[in-house]
Amino acid sequence: MNPVVTTETDLEEMVATRRDLHAHPELAFEEVRTSGIVTERLKAIGLEPKTGVGKTGVVAMIKGGKPGRTVLLRADMDALPILEENDVPYRSQTAGKMHACGHDCHTSILLNLSRRLKDAAPSLKGDVKLVFQPAEECGGGAEAMIADGVLANPKPDAAFGLHVWQELDLGKVGVTPGPFMAAVDEFTVTLRGKGAHAAQPENGLDPVVALAHVISALQTIASRNIDPLLSVVVSVTQIKAGTAFNIIPETAWMNGTVRMFDDTVWKEMPGRFERIVHGVAEALGCKADITYTRHNRPTINDPAMAEIAHQAAVEIVGEENVVTDLRTMGGEDFSDFLRAVPGCFIAIGSRNAARNLVWGHHHPKFDVDEQSLKIGADVLLRTAQKFLERA
Ligand SMILES: [Zn+2]
Ligand SMILES: [Zn+2]
Repeated sequence: MNPVVTTETDLEEMVATRRDLHAHPELAFEEVRTSGIVTERLKAIGLEPKTGVGKTGVVAMIKGGKPGRTVLLRADMDALPILEENDVPYRSQTAGKMHACGHDCHTSILLNLSRRLKDAAPSLKGDVKLVFQPAEECGGGAEAMIADGVLANPKPDAAFGLHVWQELDLGKVGVTPGPFMAAVDEFTVTLRGKGAHAAQPENGLDPVVALAHVISALQTIASRNIDPLLSVVVSVTQIKAGTAFNIIPETAWMNGTVRMFDDTVWKEMPGRFERIVHGVAEALGCKADITYTRHNRPTINDPAMAEIAHQAAVEIVGEENVVTDLRTMGGEDFSDFLRAVPGCFIAIGSRNAARNLVWGHHHPKFDVDEQSLKIGADVLLRTAQKFLERA
């Protein structure tokens, strides 16, 4: 297969697809219209897509003309429950739903690459497995597709995916060998004390004060328990308690998240968390009910696969524009693929301050510079080509 550079026509096609998907966002596992479009487009280029893989996921194989290995390319399709604040022609037509993470971009890039890879199939050494995944945003879409066999028949030899990236300027590409994105845990804690008149604390057991101490004590996980060279974040993001200014309530409730990269830290975290919450609560006379949920594992790029993606990125944007130390405490369920198959998750710079495209992921004003679609397509295609050509 000849090195193929994304043309202006390709970019126009990707922008049109992206804007259509952007205007019609669908939440996790509800991507019926989106996966319908994906399926039709794949059929139109002569592929035989398999639908219903992980509920709304779609998978298709491109068989190369020459024998070789199999590379998996993944795009996610879901949107977020956010009311869009952008005043653009392609703004969300569904109030309260928005493509505020850029998954519309990923789907349109992979659709464009599907056609180009199909065109190049006779000269392709090996096969490409195209994966359009639902429910990346805390919905377990990768897990559902894997449970439905996306990593079997054939098992891919490598997996690559990309994400448009608002912390990187347009023209930059991030390829980080090793840990790239964090593990995501969620906790919910209810402290049970004893209600009383606010003027008579001696008659109660105040869960509000106990919760305040628990929240402070949890910060010692990051500051006092963990090796300072290993990053951990504990964020309490919601607290609820009480009904009036003069009543000590019976219960106090909180919810939040823990993020980390290291596997040993990950294994020990629930125990550490529960000891602190139970210990502090008990010292202050309260009982704690804890729900500790593990969402994503850390996204860890295989060094050899990252090297292939790095070389591809250098060919597209030049060595000086490839960032190799990008890391974030955000999470990604592409980690599920990377735990089973070596691969790399690539960040494509999409921020453009000159055009005021500066808002971060999950913000109601999130939008990308669409030139990033061209760079993303080029980098992902070159990465796949390089992997297959090496076999
Ligand atoms: Zn997101
Ligand atoms: Zn995302």
